[in-house]
Amino acid sequence: MIAIYPGSFDPITLGHLDIIERGVKLFDRVIVAVLSNPNKTPMFSVEKRLQQIHLCTQHLNNVEIDSFWGLTTEYAKLKKANVLLRGLRVLSDFEKELQMAHTNKTLWSGVETVFLATSKEYSFLSSSVVKEIAQFGGSITHLVPENVSRDITVYYT
Ligand code: ADP
Repeated sequence: MIAIYPGSFDPITLGHLDIIERGVKLFDRVIVAVLSNPNKTPMFSVEKRLQQIHLCTQHLNNVEIDSFWGLTTEYAKLKKANVLLRGLRVLSDFEKELQMAHTNKTLWSGVETVFLATSKEYSFLSSSVVKEIAQFGGSITHLVPENVSRDITVYYT
């Protein structure tokens, strides 16, 4: 079974990586799909994010990295993937994620959204938290893969 793990990944954090590492044990293949969202101004370009994800998932052999724009369900059909993998951290995630899962089901009844509960050490972690800390010169080495930490340092110098 193929699962799509869609998201912004701006940038990928250790919380995302944890979901990927656990996802590959559950599915034959996990496609990490970077959503190219014209309504958001990202910190890193889609190309850079793809490279960041590629570098930190090299130890996993059933991961594919790709980008897409538009409806996730259409992208999933294209990739012959019936599962959307998402992570849940706090109650506020649940509300938004459930709405999205129901919406996607109305768009394509063949899709299932599978949620993985965050590992408790990453329950507070998001790309926004990383950006907020980095912006004020705080250390983020314990929150993101090493290659991403280097990219953030370069971004702010
Ligand atoms: P989006 O803009 O689609 O929410 P994100 O890159 O913020 O994209 O997140 C992608 C997915 O990863 C979402 O399902 C989100 O809940 C999940 N996620 C993000 N951070 C964590 C974390 N620390 N632990 C578990 N899941 C996470």
